[in-house]
Amino acid sequence: MSSRTLSYGKCFLCGETLAKSAVGRHLAKCVPAHEKVGRGRPARLFHLRVEGRYAPAYWLHLEIPASATLLDLDDFLRAIWLECCDHLSAFTIRNVRYERDTGMVDAMWKDIFGSPWPIASMKVKLHQVLSVGDRFTHEYDYGTTTELQLKVISERMGFAPKGEIRLLARNYAPDLRCEVCGRPAEVLYVFEYPYESYCEEHGLEKHGDEGLMPIVNSPRVGVCGYTGPFDESLRFEERIPVGKG
Ligand SMILES: [Zn+2]
Ligand SMILES: [Zn+2]
Ligand SMILES: [Zn+2]
Repeated sequence: MSSRTLSYGKCFLCGETLAKSAVGRHLAKCVPAHEKVGRGRPARLFHLRVEGRYAPAYWLHLEIPASATLLDLDDFLRAIWLECCDHLSAFTIRNVRYERDTGMVDAMWKDIFGSPWPIASMKVKLHQVLSVGDRFTHEYDYGTTTELQLKVISERMGFAPKGEIRLLARNYAPDLRCEVCGRPAEVLYVFEYPYESYCEEHGLEKHGDEGLMPIVNSPRVGVCGYTGPFDESLRFEERIPVGKG
């Protein structure tokens, strides 16, 4: 997977292609430049960066009202990057674990492993537990875990559309290639690690359809039953435009 400096993404406000390391600075100017003054009073908004803890080529920049809850943020992360079969999830902030117990498939993991941290509910507002500069983590699925690293980049007073979470920028799909022909890869063979990537034709030719998973632009690609967001409007499979980067 490409390194930190070689990862590129797209600003969803102006459409520009940006190196990962330049996104924070870009958004500090682009967000105010695209501000639409809404009705009512401006609200306190946090700018968050989210990335795969062990797969930093996958990243998002979000704007979220400080009055939103960790549960709202968890819902969004599941919807855009994580949800496969309703696993458990938790944020860890300053050594406190904020858990969401879905009561589903792997509730047993908690009983087996327990938690070294004090446990709290995700029904807490962001401004009660976070401030600018804070780094924290998110885990989805305690069995085949996807870990995310988050940072509060900045805060401002502004207008959030209907008080929702706003996607500001995200990475282009990493340039995975077929190991046989070098064309853009479409599937991963996940029965061996590291995963092997193939175009559909060569994946089927080498392995049959057992163990092949579709490639999707998420740090959960190839894990458990993950095949991308249920909400198609959150799916983003664009690759870096030719000539950029
Ligand atoms: Zn922009
Ligand atoms: Zn699953
Ligand atoms: Zn191929």
